[in-house]
Amino acid sequence: MLLSPLKSLHSPSSLLERSRRRRAASPLFPTSSSSSSSSSSSCSVRCCSSSLSRCPLRYAVLGAGFAGLSVAWHLLKHCPKDLHLIIDIYDESGIGGGASGVAGGLLHPYSPKVKLLWQGASCWRECLKLLSIAEAAVGSRESTLGTHECSREKIIHRRGILRPAVDAKNLDILSKNAENCLPSCRIDSIDKEAAKTLVPDIRVPFNSLFYMPEALNVHPLNYLQALFMACEDLVKEMSASGSGSKELYLHKRSINQLSDLAGEYHAVVVCIGAKANLLPELAGKLPLRMCRGVIAHLRLPDHVKESYPDHSPSILSDAWLAIQGPRDLLVGSTWDWKSNNTSREVPAEEASQALDKLIPKASAVYPKIKDWAFIRAKAGLRAMPPLTSEGSLPLLGRIDHIVDFNQDCKYWFFGGLGARGLLYHGLLGKLMAQAVLQGDDSLLPSELTSWNKLKS
Ligand SMILES: Cc1cc2nc3c(=O)[nH]c(=O)nc-3n(C[C@H](O)[C@H](O)[C@H](O)COP(=O)(O)OP(=O)(O)OC[C@H]3O[C@@H](n4cnc5c(N)ncnc54)[C@H](O)[C@@H]3O)c2cc1C
Repeated sequence: MLLSPLKSLHSPSSLLERSRRRRAASPLFPTSSSSSSSSSSSCSVRCCSSSLSRCPLRYAVLGAGFAGLSVAWHLLKHCPKDLHLIIDIYDESGIGGGASGVAGGLLHPYSPKVKLLWQGASCWRECLKLLSIAEAAVGSRESTLGTHECSREKIIHRRGILRPAVDAKNLDILSKNAENCLPSCRIDSIDKEAAKTLVPDIRVPFNSLFYMPEALNVHPLNYLQALFMACEDLVKEMSASGSGSKELYLHKRSINQLSDLAGEYHAVVVCIGAKANLLPELAGKLPLRMCRGVIAHLRLPDHVKESYPDHSPSILSDAWLAIQGPRDLLVGSTWDWKSNNTSREVPAEEASQALDKLIPKASAVYPKIKDWAFIRAKAGLRAMPPLTSEGSLPLLGRIDHIVDFNQDCKYWFFGGLGARGLLYHGLLGKLMAQAVLQGDDSLLPSELTSWNKLKS
């Protein structure tokens, strides 16, 4: 398995500009006019830079969720064309085996109070790029193989999202925040009448709602599978056109300790979500709290004639309704801070308790939810980072000082994506890949690396 493409993923954001400028000075990018090298580049990497096509650079990416596949894509995309690069992805359950595979998939760059999130514009843009790359990979296979097995429609539902205000105080805050929305994901303030034209059966406590027409509902598993296909296509394309071959392998294997990989790789990127604390080298060293979430899949029974209108938006309130089709929706999510259970299986009792919490909340904005029948529940464990003045920001950075057993291999951590892995994974996967390629964690935003205080 291998191979991969690249349209230009470069963007004008300040973070990415900074990263690009530093990349130009990296020994891994010999076409640059600068020959200075990053002080933190590894010895092995420098060795490879002197004989790019002969010395393969080997990276391991642990985890094939949003974080791991974004890093893998961007490592391929940003590595020099003449470099022989080998990437091994390890996942104990396969693609989307963790929280990413069960996520609700609601995608927009705002907080629940519709405030633009940290680096919201860049995160939104980079995420949309990855989504379109994944869609294109499926599209190109459909046209090559003449198959519709992976339909583009199944990756993204383009319906927009409707957010009702729930009380007067809430309305003031939301209105103010909505004024600073992105042009590429605008927030229209609408009244009850307009809302009823979008979702005829919606119930709104106040005569005011916020409508995000460009917000998306992603099918996470289909998306991740398509992103992996895009990585494979990119490997093929780069290997065919450049002097250095690219190889990509997906191993369905659990890594029980990082030392198992010692000596095999130039860099190991740990993207194993809520299970990071289970690695003996990282146990107790990451400032993460776990929170289990359950999502219920509901379906309209055949005897109910009226279905959810074709283009009506998903709904975001105390519970969210992610519409999957005229007769299927997901309702979520619960927040169980006491659970460390990573299983996606939901026993009957847990499902029943989740429905008791979710249905009244959903019913407050969409009373007709009572007509829908429960089909199944699934669950995942969120790895929640500490709350900072900028929100709950993911944790990135070098962890050699924590791992500390093989100076030739650089260890990196990319986790704590909390409840927003989908939004963050594009931009942060890109920055992470650029930092790994250069062995320079100063390319990462300090807000995301400040947790790593023990860094040597
Ligand atoms: C119920 C629920 C709903 C959510 N809804 C949304 C949403 O609508 N939008 C949004 O943006 N975010 C949502 N999230 C959050 C989102 O799912 C996470 O932020 C994101 O999935 C984290 O991605 P990750 O790649 O870091 O981890 P994961 O997706 O958990 O990936 C880690 C991978 O590593 C593998 N792995 C673990 N341990 C090992 C090991 N030792 N060796 C090898 N492989 C290993 C796992 O099998 C898994 O595939 C939701 C989360 C939950 C629980």
